[in-house]
Amino acid sequence: MSDAMTHKGKCFCGSVEITVTGEPVAMGYCHCSSCREWSAGPVNAFTLWAPASVKITKGAGNVGVYHRTDRSLRKWCKKCGGHLLTDHPGWKLVDVYAAVIPSVKFKPALHVNYQETVLRIKDGLPKQKDVPKEMGGSGELLPE
Ligand SMILES: [Zn+2]
Ligand SMILES: [Zn+2]
Repeated sequence: MSDAMTHKGKCFCGSVEITVTGEPVAMGYCHCSSCREWSAGPVNAFTLWAPASVKITKGAGNVGVYHRTDRSLRKWCKKCGGHLLTDHPGWKLVDVYAAVIPSVKFKPALHVNYQETVLRIKDGLPKQKDVPKEMGGSGELLPE
């Protein structure tokens, strides 16, 4: 495996390190209220990976997990509170927040849960009302 395909990330304090390998399955922005309330930011820039592509390489004992629903297991560093990733077991995908892995070139393809937005972004990308059909959503698009 070449180094070029591996990217390192870390939490705010550096106690926890993550490695992602290969290419994300999808990248974009989530506007849902859960992401907003948990992150304290208006949108979540996500990168979705196959679980096998994501490894906690340092400080696994410092990783906390909270799940309000079984669909999203949100993980953070218990020392600094820095957010790391969300496991989506139903989709068999892991969202590693784009901000956590800065060397991965962020190429957003879509916005999801735009019906809940508090920050309209006029970037010309498709605005899914909820999530795409192949992920169990309506696939319906909204105006920017
Ligand atoms: Zn930390
Ligand atoms: Zn969300």
